[in-house]
Amino acid sequence: MKKTPPAPPPEAAPPPPVDSFQELGLADPLLRSLVEVGYEAPTPIQAIAIPPLLAGRDLIGQAQTGTGKTAAFGLALLQAIEPAEKAVQALVLTPTRELAIQVAEALHTYGKYLQRLVVLPVYGGQSLEQQQRRLDRGVHVVVGTPGRIMDHLRRGSLKLDRIRMVVLDEADEMLRMGFIEDVEWILSQAPPPSAGRQTALFSATMPPEIRRIAQRHLQDPMSIELERKALTVPAIDQRYILVAQPQKLEALTRLLETEPIEAVLVFTRTKNAAAEVSEKLEARGYSVAALHGDMNQPMRERVVERLRAGQVEIVVATDVAARGIDVDRISHVVNYDIPYDLGAYIHRIGRTGRAGRAGSAVLFVTPRERRMLQELERYTGQRIQAMRMPTAADVALRRSEMFKETLRKTIGEQDLDLYLALVEELVEEGLDLAVVAAAAAYLARRERPLELAVEPETSGFLPSADGGMVRLFLNAGRQAGVRPADIVGAIANEAGVPGKEIGSIDIDERYSFVEVPARYHQQIVERMAGATLRGRPLEIRIAGEAEKRPAGPPRRPTAPPARGAKRPERPGPPRGPKGAGKGPGPKRSRWP
Ligand code: AMP
Repeated sequence: MKKTPPAPPPEAAPPPPVDSFQELGLADPLLRSLVEVGYEAPTPIQAIAIPPLLAGRDLIGQAQTGTGKTAAFGLALLQAIEPAEKAVQALVLTPTRELAIQVAEALHTYGKYLQRLVVLPVYGGQSLEQQQRRLDRGVHVVVGTPGRIMDHLRRGSLKLDRIRMVVLDEADEMLRMGFIEDVEWILSQAPPPSAGRQTALFSATMPPEIRRIAQRHLQDPMSIELERKALTVPAIDQRYILVAQPQKLEALTRLLETEPIEAVLVFTRTKNAAAEVSEKLEARGYSVAALHGDMNQPMRERVVERLRAGQVEIVVATDVAARGIDVDRISHVVNYDIPYDLGAYIHRIGRTGRAGRAGSAVLFVTPRERRMLQELERYTGQRIQAMRMPTAADVALRRSEMFKETLRKTIGEQDLDLYLALVEELVEEGLDLAVVAAAAAYLARRERPLELAVEPETSGFLPSADGGMVRLFLNAGRQAGVRPADIVGAIANEAGVPGKEIGSIDIDERYSFVEVPARYHQQIVERMAGATLRGRPLEIRIAGEAEKRPAGPPRRPTAPPARGAKRPERPGPPRGPKGAGKGPGPKRSRWP
């Protein structure tokens, strides 16, 4: 994401030297919250966009989700706010309510140390009066969808006369969804650029309509474009796995169990995540170390040395700390969090396949990041092959193979006379030789059974439903103000399921149920991971699944009950993974 591409490097170059957040001119309260969230260095778009934004310049940023664009405009916007002044000073327009909530949450996080900062997400589906009351109490930043913002402007509950900054986020999406005239109308209600209003426009693509808006409403904007030139990409095997955020750790451990691994470098975006993933792997028995910017140089060097010497198998690192690591043993790079741009991706995967060896790179992609994946493919000019998350059966198979190998080795290398005599005695007693061997194998593996214990809730492997409808459970109901339109809207917008395909909806006091064609089930559960419904984190799964499936193979969804069929008034609260079947020992619940 540089304006002028560097000359082609002899090998994958490290990401462009990134300034620290301090150097960008951000105020202390913002820097403090960035330390807390664990960002080590600005992403390229942040490094390029923040200084001109802080200087008051208008900006066009061609960037999509995953590049760090939210913090790019968010930090500059927060710095422009005068908390003592109780008026709306910044407005962010987003195409969807989910994005509005996400951006508002991000602003809230970055603005944690700004005294009395109030950020309000406003979107359709919520009560206008309630929003109006909150606006009346005083709000500094409003983040919302164009339709609802217009409603408030017309009612007079939102005034833009003190606005200093307007951000159009995902402008091309707003265009696609038919909001562009609304956006223009809203811009015309704000003070003109000549009165000091600053405007930033972010868009993944730049269709002519968006350029026209920029020409009309932005003043001498600085333009930041994506790097369009493919860089030299190391020739290594590249794959990706589609996972929901909460499944990443499980996906990583399954990879570690099923891939022919020598040494692994795992990349996360923040130092907090690097420390956390490393701790969790350690708790699962792996030999692992973290590598991040909170460690001093000698500590970092020690970690790299231990990796090189084979004393640790896995290093979980941030981009900054892993810059330039050169360890031939690295057989795999796992992009646990998607890199923020092409340069970072190329640098990361270039840590493997060194010294003429084969290397593998695996990228975890959450449903929202699919677009970033396409960009990576487009600009590397290489396919990143889809791979499915290794199943429990894959893990069991691999463990069996490894165990057999250990047995063969032991037979070849060990003096077994004493044990042989013992086995012969048992056989003379009439026991079957194979059964004796199986019992011995069982004892040898008691601490680490060949089969994988899977907790259904965290497994993320959902029945591959094909025909008919499935009934899904949602963890919000009448009490939370859920209406059928909210559910249809959420599933249609977030999961891309055509509204007309959504079946009957039942809303109870605390829960709701919706029928969807079984073929969309996986897609819905994946894409809606992390979504919210009426402002609450949404939990969505096959109705009754947690209770019904403590053990045994996944079930095919059963035929749906007839519309309006009798159900218990209030289904019991969903039972989490701590429900039945989580006892210790080899009898732990599992399903292939
Ligand atoms: P965005 O492109 O704004 O949707 O951001 C994508 C993700 O990157 C979010 O999860 C952010 O928390 C994260 N992020 C943003 N800036 C940084 C940074 N400088 N370092 C690490 N992570 C970041």
